[in-house]
Amino acid sequence: MGFQNQAIIMVDIVNYMIFQRFLLIFVLSALFLLPFSTVKALEEGLRPAPEIATGVQATQVATGTQMMVVTAHPEATKAAYAMLDKGGNAIDAAIAAQLVLGLVEPLSSGLGGGAFALYFDVKSKKIISFDGRETAPQDAGEYLFIDQDGKPMKFFDAALGGRAVGVPGVPRLLETMHARDGALPWAVLFEPAIELSQKGFTVTPRLSKMLSEGAAKFRHDVKTKLYFFPDSVNPLEAGDTRNNLFYAQTLKNLADHGADSFYKGQMAEDIVSKVRGAVHNPGSLSVEDMAAYQVKIRNPVCGSYRGYQICSMAEPSSGGLTLLQILKLLERFDLAALGEDNPKSWHIIAEASRLAFADRNKYMADGDFVKTPAEVLLENRYIQERTYLISVDTPFQSVYAGVPSAMLEQVEQGSDIEIRPPSTTHISIVDAAGNIVSMTSSIESAFGSHLMVNGFLLNSELTDFSFQPFDKEGNPIANRVEGGKRPRSSVTPTIVFDPDGQPFMVIGSAGGSRIIGFVLQRIIAAIDWGLPIDESLEMPNILHRGEKLEVETSAMDLAEPLMEIGHAVLVGDMNSGLTAIQFVNGQIIGAADPRREGMAMGR
Ligand code: GLU
Repeated sequence: MGFQNQAIIMVDIVNYMIFQRFLLIFVLSALFLLPFSTVKALEEGLRPAPEIATGVQATQVATGTQMMVVTAHPEATKAAYAMLDKGGNAIDAAIAAQLVLGLVEPLSSGLGGGAFALYFDVKSKKIISFDGRETAPQDAGEYLFIDQDGKPMKFFDAALGGRAVGVPGVPRLLETMHARDGALPWAVLFEPAIELSQKGFTVTPRLSKMLSEGAAKFRHDVKTKLYFFPDSVNPLEAGDTRNNLFYAQTLKNLADHGADSFYKGQMAEDIVSKVRGAVHNPGSLSVEDMAAYQVKIRNPVCGSYRGYQICSMAEPSSGGLTLLQILKLLERFDLAALGEDNPKSWHIIAEASRLAFADRNKYMADGDFVKTPAEVLLENRYIQERTYLISVDTPFQSVYAGVPSAMLEQVEQGSDIEIRPPSTTHISIVDAAGNIVSMTSSIESAFGSHLMVNGFLLNSELTDFSFQPFDKEGNPIANRVEGGKRPRSSVTPTIVFDPDGQPFMVIGSAGGSRIIGFVLQRIIAAIDWGLPIDESLEMPNILHRGEKLEVETSAMDLAEPLMEIGHAVLVGDMNSGLTAIQFVNGQIIGAADPRREGMAMGR
């Protein structure tokens, strides 16, 4: 197995306190040993990122003046573009893209998953967000992921099978978005996906590689196995053509009868029986849970950074609040003067991220279920208290969540930093009128539960809950499992406006809780460092989620000085899945992350 294939799993290369003098030698040895160390990291309980790095291609960039689509797959981009071409709007295009992604990128998102979407309506100049997050079955209790010995389950023991399947949100989400803001007839949006699922799509290198790397996980469901491993042994190969007639039929039902055909009747029964009947790890999902599912229309969380207005997803995603808190903590530092090649910039970004992640881990959750401070975490007085904790020279010894004085009541205690694995896909669209969609969609880790029903995979999103219901002091954790609750997300679908109030950037990513850092870095790159969007997507990823400073392999030259400053550094590849659009002097520039297979298309 090659280093590239392994590298999403970050490996702790140095304990800086002990090995300070041997940094360079140690770093080089660690790189050499990475494939072996990976196994060690897994055994030590670091959750593997479910989407392995699958290589880098030339960044996909497109320039236009009227409209732009960027998705993680060329077929999805083409389908969305076709809708815009027919006079559809950004909502229509996003729906068509999602339906195709469920076929061609089934590991990342689909009808069996959930999504969050931000929509900027150019006429009203308003931005709203749609919460199509999966929801825990009513019977799911706080010990869902505690094993018989009273310990939290291992990640894949929890994720595979029916236990972690939440009520899917995507079908109702797409219907709700369309009913509210779509332009083309509903059934038209299904045409590209139906045609492609009947005709067959071409298997990409990434899908094939993910299947062979994860082959052992396809043991829970014969249908899933045979779909992806047609002779029951060998995975689909890059270049193979794969049709999906069950998916085509599911799409036709949705096109003809709407989302009710998914949440009620035969489809709901099929999903429930798959989840409850999972041989190794059944779940408690019921037809009542399916029928009760609701999309929530929420206000986005918005805030300013150096005069730019940034809007992103509110709870139950932690993405928007954490992103904005980090940016606000950074505002007193002159990152522009320091520059992107300066380790000091990254040290300061890391420290701000550590403070924000401490708050995220303690406080953020489904605010419909637990009292969370929410936007109090962005109040100026609190930000000032926190930002002046940052030293430009020395990293924190340890970081704790703060207590904003504006919090009227003490919120529940949370857990320590946790490491979460990513999957997921992001769609960025601007239509000819100027409406914008920024939508992140997921079935949680790659291939989700690995259970397939009627042509699509079911999510494993409930693993985004805290496995532990109580912290060390016995206080309930805000993000504990509760029936009917939505697990905390990290997705960060974002729209940025310039100081004149004009759209400046549309962005989001895959990557679990790393998403926040991926998006943060590109906003800073654009605003502070003036980097064009394609260059900023090509930059090595560098981020901090509260435990270690994570640095992509291609930024080794920064890793060493950061260790000298005193950071504990992890080096490896990070399979971000950014798709972004930037508005520059009348031009609209779309770019897809070179680490995946996405495509931008505009005119
Ligand atoms: N389940 C993740 C979340 O909502 C998204 C999947 C991922 O990228 O890990 O935060």
